[in-house]
Amino acid sequence: MLDYHLHLWPHTQSDTPLDLGQVAAYCERAQAAGVVELALTEHLFRFVQADSVLGRWWEDDEPSAVLRASMADYWRFHARADLDAYVETVEEARKAGLPVVLGLEVDYYPGRMDRVAGLLEGYPFDVLLGSVHWVGGWRFDDVGDGPSMDQWSVRAVDDCWDAYTRAVEELAASGACDVLAHPDLIKVTGRRPENPGEWWDRLAESAAAAGVAAELSSAGWRKPADEQYPAEPLLARFAAHGVPFTTASDAHHEGHVADRVDDLRALLGSIGVDRLQAYRRRQGHSVPLAPLAGAGVGDPRKG
Ligand SMILES: [Zn+2]
Ligand SMILES: [Zn+2]
Repeated sequence: MLDYHLHLWPHTQSDTPLDLGQVAAYCERAQAAGVVELALTEHLFRFVQADSVLGRWWEDDEPSAVLRASMADYWRFHARADLDAYVETVEEARKAGLPVVLGLEVDYYPGRMDRVAGLLEGYPFDVLLGSVHWVGGWRFDDVGDGPSMDQWSVRAVDDCWDAYTRAVEELAASGACDVLAHPDLIKVTGRRPENPGEWWDRLAESAAAAGVAAELSSAGWRKPADEQYPAEPLLARFAAHGVPFTTASDAHHEGHVADRVDDLRALLGSIGVDRLQAYRRRQGHSVPLAPLAGAGVGDPRKG
């Protein structure tokens, strides 16, 4: 198994020093749960370098003054760390023999993905997750934020799913990511359309057309939706389209690393999936779903 979606900081912290000991503790916990490789995938918007190329992006995209102000506060709090120091920490962890790859969780910035690509091409990333957490400047998944959650009572669920899906389609087609993270995140609050099939079809087709993988994540079980991402019918659609999978916890602290990895394994087994997709330098390679203990994934760059 893999845990290919991990954060070093909770959203309540920013500018916290990076610590190799934390990475080692993540690895120890994951390996004890049968995970052979971890991808550290901090949010791009955690870094001052993102602020310099993307800062104030929401002013073009968000008509609501309340949501613009909320996003400005959120961004100001989060965009404080140094991307170079993050990359160096992960490289150090790897050199120390820890089974980690260098990743990043990249949001969709409409009309600005060329700036994202320009920023990231100077770094040796192994895997880039593509995520949609925002529609315009609305943080639809920020379940602790009042102004964000208020929007759910003034917008139609179908419209939300439609806008979300369009953003995922555009992000996948942009070439900026390798894996669709939490592919049906729009269900996070538990609000679902009566007939989600149309959107599930589009999400699966967009991944297949772009040649990206889909993430199976336990994080949804820790949210009001109380269901893994993606829902089983979407998981089956990805598989039917030949879309490869990663598995992930989306942990923001050690206690959630490798969360419910056995439940994820069982879901994949139930639809006949026995391989996962791992990455080096943004090139995917297939690995067994459940290698024997100690088998390891191996590193194609060696030997
Ligand atoms: Zn995310
Ligand atoms: Zn995440």
